[in-house]
Amino acid sequence: MSLKDFRLDGKVALITGGNRGIGLAVAQLFGEAGAKSVLTARRDNPEGEALLKKSGYEFDFVSADATDPKTPERLIDHTISKYGRIDILVNNAGVAQHGETPSFTDEMYEKIMTTNLTQLFRFCRAVITPMRRQGGGAILNVGSISGIVTNVPQDQVAYNASKAGVHMLTKSLANELAGDNIRVNALAPGYIETDMTDVRNTNKEWDSVWRANTPIGRYGMPEEMANCILFLCSPASSYVTGSVLVADGGYTTR
Ligand code: NAP
Repeated sequence: MSLKDFRLDGKVALITGGNRGIGLAVAQLFGEAGAKSVLTARRDNPEGEALLKKSGYEFDFVSADATDPKTPERLIDHTISKYGRIDILVNNAGVAQHGETPSFTDEMYEKIMTTNLTQLFRFCRAVITPMRRQGGGAILNVGSISGIVTNVPQDQVAYNASKAGVHMLTKSLANELAGDNIRVNALAPGYIETDMTDVRNTNKEWDSVWRANTPIGRYGMPEEMANCILFLCSPASSYVTGSVLVADGGYTTR
């Protein structure tokens, strides 16, 4: 038992959606914990990269669309050729879209499911062989409270279904890979202050309902999610697999 178990010295991580929001906070904390990271998203974010560079963390940003079926293997190969191994996969990239179901088109539904669930499955699938070869690893999938309860007042059937899928995929894979020393866990954030919830600034009704339904009474911060993700990806959680850690300010207690 040691606080050192929370560190990631010598570890190599691949973080999807690593250019902003929760993913960028994870990249910062992983850097501070001693890991080298490959970050990926469709767009680069010079401000985020400057922040990481200034801190002296070792990282590499690769622009890629996670929904392209070739992306997962390409990025995992890139991570191994850049840093020699891959110990941690953080599947964080995701999108949300609200809308009443009768007018929610096939295209909208497909976009949500492909981005939040299908590509995440492909990343998990592609990382198993290299992790097995290395003797183990940790996979962290970002789910949501939307995979546990129905958020109000907005309608978001596809998003909710995709995140419930992430949770069940996580549990199933944890069971399948436990014998390979590969742990698989999920984080279920509540309402977090990122671009994904920027409607809070314009839709005051939603903002006040979301706050009122959160016992802690405020949005979570990306850094608070990064703390949970560090725990689930570090040796400190060596006996935790198949868990969905809820970090929601108490939202799902009601
Ligand atoms: P965000 O700031 O909007 O970040 C979303 C990230 O996903 C960005 O880095 C984005 O980069 C990336 N991304 C989206 N589509 C992509 C694609 N096709 N290919 C590659 N990257 C893609 O929101 P966030 O809150 O940090 O979201 C991170 C995760 O937390 C998501 O899975 C989200 O569902 C989950 N979550 C968020 C909340 C919340 O309240 N914020 C609550 C529960 C769960 P590009 O757009 O540049 O590609």
